Amino acid sequence: MCSPLSKQHQEKFEDMLSQQADALCKQAQALHISSQALAANGDIKQPNSIDHWIDFLYQCNDDASFQIRRKLEGIAAAQQQIELGLYGICSDCESPITLERLLQEPSQQRCGICEAKFNQLSASSKRVWL
Ligand SMILES: [Zn+2]
Repeated sequence: MCSPLSKQHQEKFEDMLSQQADALCKQAQALHISSQALAANGDIKQPNSIDHWIDFLYQCNDDASFQIRRKLEGIAAAQQQIELGLYGICSDCESPITLERLLQEPSQQRCGICEAKFNQLSASSKRVWL
């Protein structure tokens, strides 16, 4: 199994992903610029490192941090898939994800069918837990 996308498309998505990552790192930085934890870590040396921010946001309990972390994790996973030549393949059923879906959300991990199933599943598991 290898990526169904052309080299040009992969490069385009790589660009989109790193732009999204930059924007999210800036958001995270703005959110935590005055945070004690960040000041104490003294780690602002790597303000553009996705891994750094994922680690940092893990320690934060607010909703905004959680949302940013989720998105960064998606981007990190997609970047890894590009590296492995597996980008654009559904993580559940291994069918190619359509170009339209990827253009909408380049860190997309699932095809339309599996995404719908996944949402249904998480909606019903939420019902169970609530
Ligand atoms: Zn699928």
